[in-house]
Amino acid sequence: MWFRRDLRVYDNAALYQALVHSKSVYCVFVFDTDILDRLSSKRHRRVEFIYESVHELCTNLRRLGGDLFVLHASARAEIPALAKRLRVQAVYANADYEPAAIERDGAVAQALSMLGVQLHRCKDQVIFEPQEILTNGKPFSVFTPYKNAWLARLQSDSLAAYPVEGHASVLSPERAPAAPSLAALGFERTNLAELRLPTGTSGGQRWLNDFLTRIDDYDELRNYPALNGPSNLSVHLRFGTLSIRELARLAHARNTAGAKVWLSELIWREFYFMILFFHPGVVEHAYKPAFENVAFSNSDDSFKAWCDGRTGYPLIDAAMQQINQTGYMHNRLRMVTASFLTKDLHVDWRWGERYFADKLNDYDLSANNGGWQWAASTGSDAQPYFRIFNPTLQSERFDPDGNFIRSYLPALSAVPTEYIHAPWLMSVADQKQYGVIIGKDYPAPIVDHAQARAQTLKLYGAATRRQA
Ligand code: FAD
Repeated sequence: MWFRRDLRVYDNAALYQALVHSKSVYCVFVFDTDILDRLSSKRHRRVEFIYESVHELCTNLRRLGGDLFVLHASARAEIPALAKRLRVQAVYANADYEPAAIERDGAVAQALSMLGVQLHRCKDQVIFEPQEILTNGKPFSVFTPYKNAWLARLQSDSLAAYPVEGHASVLSPERAPAAPSLAALGFERTNLAELRLPTGTSGGQRWLNDFLTRIDDYDELRNYPALNGPSNLSVHLRFGTLSIRELARLAHARNTAGAKVWLSELIWREFYFMILFFHPGVVEHAYKPAFENVAFSNSDDSFKAWCDGRTGYPLIDAAMQQINQTGYMHNRLRMVTASFLTKDLHVDWRWGERYFADKLNDYDLSANNGGWQWAASTGSDAQPYFRIFNPTLQSERFDPDGNFIRSYLPALSAVPTEYIHAPWLMSVADQKQYGVIIGKDYPAPIVDHAQARAQTLKLYGAATRRQA
């Protein structure tokens, strides 16, 4: 059993299939050098999250009488090598729908087949695989009909759990060599412990239980970054420390507005898996060809100011502090900051997408690409290009008391709510009184929203006309 983005024992489809079809099952996880070597920093929260979760996975497998081989190598070479060493007849893994993973799995399957070993890929990461929800045999391009088809197809057995525990006696008791430490993997500790982001299935279950006390209010609270509205479970879904079947089952069983909206978000996740699967070109290119070559100005200074949270727009800057300090950013703020980068600063969405990919704990190629292309209006079922978020109005609407802003921007801590969304409007006397001189203690806005908006309409309008 080869674990990848499914770091749990309970309700794990591939582990279940391996256990029920085998006399003896070895378990392995690979810290894949093909992935790790490309990371920009050796202090990486995602790596630490995986490291801690793998440690717990190993403990849980040992409790059941098995163990976990933890390797630090190129998976495409080492999985066939280990299969040969252990003389296994089959390898089980849960399917992954990203282009690079599909390519890697194809190469591994081929190398295994030379040994007479079959790679079995099971459905686990999703309720419905991309090919299962189609319209007239073709992929959907719009979310609502996709969601309706998804819900129409849902049966109780779509959400049934795989009861691994009853079959654990076939786990091989052979002791695996000691797992490499984080330092041996070439990585350092981050501020994960300080953030109290709980890892592993136990951590995921703790946050899930907490969310279940709030799920019925999700529809009301989810848009306000100062409130604890969303589930915060994305990182656990990303690495499979929680089961999507369990989450969808819990949401589906509750007939409340909050739970229904939350289930809809889980369907968005599968919608973007599906888009990436059928349109792998979106990794580099606009889903809508008309917007492939919008004439973005791509100013390095503007991009840097956005990354560092120094744009002079408090909601944008606080959001960028949130991602930089914690690796999380609230969904509303992902939409607003992505829109700001592309439509106020005229920087290509791919730059922002890469920045998020580096920083987010829950980074997922399909959701990140989908989210960026939505905000930049280049994607499937995206925001129309002429709908442009006003960063000040978004701030007034979704952080009305400025509590989120103040929690990340100490320079503005004494600024009254009246000015918190647009502090540049304060008189010099007010700036002195509230301890923040604009242009010195906090930046003046680096762009005028009204002018930037007009320019965006021109840029996208020109792209549309070129296409016509
Ligand atoms: P909740 O609101 O509790 O939602 C529950 C779950 O549904 C999430 O954990 C996630 O798995 C899924 N989900 C929710 N919204 C979306 C969505 N729009 N698209 C796909 N899945 C969704 N999500 C990621 O998981 N990884 C990313 O790299 C990512 N990048 C994004 C980039 C941009 C520009 C935007 C606009 C959105 C991005 N999202 C991404 C989607 C969304 O912002 C996060 O899933 C959400 O903020 C995570 O917080 P949560 O777990 O509290 O979400």
